Amino acid sequence: MRIVMKFGGSSLASAIHIRRAADLIARQRAEGDDVVVVVSAQGDTTDDLIEKAREITEEPCGREKDMLLCCGEQMSMALMAMQLEAMGCPAVSLCGWQAGIRTESRHGDARILKVEPDRVIRALEEGRVAVVAGFQGIDGTGELTTLGRGGSDTTAVALAAALGADACRIYTDVSGVYSADPRVVERARVHREISYDEMLEMAALGAKVLHSRAVELAREHNVRVEVCSTFSPQSGGTALGSECGHGQPVRGITCDDRVDMVTVAGLGAGPETCGLFNRLADSGVSIDVIIRSPGEQPRGGVVSFSVSAGDRETVRAVLNGCREELGFSAFSVQTDMAKVSVVGVGMSDGCGVAAKMLRALQEGDLRPQYITTGELRISVILPKTCASRAVRLIHSAFFEE
Ligand code: ADP
Ligand code: ASP
Ligand code: MG
Repeated sequence: MRIVMKFGGSSLASAIHIRRAADLIARQRAEGDDVVVVVSAQGDTTDDLIEKAREITEEPCGREKDMLLCCGEQMSMALMAMQLEAMGCPAVSLCGWQAGIRTESRHGDARILKVEPDRVIRALEEGRVAVVAGFQGIDGTGELTTLGRGGSDTTAVALAAALGADACRIYTDVSGVYSADPRVVERARVHREISYDEMLEMAALGAKVLHSRAVELAREHNVRVEVCSTFSPQSGGTALGSECGHGQPVRGITCDDRVDMVTVAGLGAGPETCGLFNRLADSGVSIDVIIRSPGEQPRGGVVSFSVSAGDRETVRAVLNGCREELGFSAFSVQTDMAKVSVVGVGMSDGCGVAAKMLRALQEGDLRPQYITTGELRISVILPKTCASRAVRLIHSAFFEE
């Protein structure tokens, strides 16, 4: 068997953690398998590096920020390879570029374009464990790039696809994919299986247990992904597959607590609204919930939409830049908001899910200002301070009755 094992930051937080992960790797290899390991930066290293950059400048250039962030995963890969060697398990560490992770030219959030894993294959042929730094790649001009927060999952799945691996096991600090974040909902249930579609929706809506591009790639290349705990690997975990729903309309409650709501007043409904959204799209800003209230006057309408808090400054710059041309009167940004969503493939042909969700919120005295529905989800936007309570109320309505 050929297997990719990915270890997240909390699974590598200290030398003891690295040793424990190395034990799992050595045991897998002892079964005669080819083993490729993908590592994240230890503990909070990535956050610490971002903070270090901020101590120098509020706006580090993308290239230098990526050069800095790549160091986190490189520390982990070298330490893991040293640990494996010290245990008598032959290993070699490889940076993203050495492992052939080719990306688009975009700093901070690059997509993987292709993987050329020759060196990884060579290491396996030499009988070594290949330990690859997650979250990083190289673009066509030879510059280092990073894949976005949580991107080591994507490195692992991309390598598994390129190597035709039999499985890609994501080792993390919880026992799999749950019906809600188990750190927020004590009674959350672990799923034995979840469909790619449901997992993709959950990941995109804030369940950070898997990077959404990793799920996209797994679905595209039919990679067998398993999510399990580094600390109790024997307890099973969750397998991703094509089977959907298992008869349950709702499979997960998610929360994205980095959301801003932008409101633009006096924007014409025709080319002006179109022009605004085009400009935001051209600047790489993705928009989710959109609500338009027509207003009484020809230019009395109000458009509200949600964006990721990470895009706040770009959104402000775009709006300031096109205000005169598009002729709107004012805009405001409501920060510290959260998007709480109910996700499930069976939702499209079941009714009553929205009613149940809103009733649960109502009973907890929560009245969301914005609501949106999609084929696989219903989302509400609330102040961040209410988000965890909202998740617990909704979870209890759907899973604890
Ligand atoms: P790693 O460092 O291993 O990549 P992450 O912190 O990125 O781990 O992701 C694991 C975390 O995801 C868990 O600790 C948990 O708090 C959070 N999480 C959010 N939603 C879910 C969910 N539905 N199921 C499991 N974990 C979830
Ligand atoms: N170290 C990176 C992060 O913290 C990538 C990852 O852990 O997947 O986002
Ligand atoms: Mg992660």
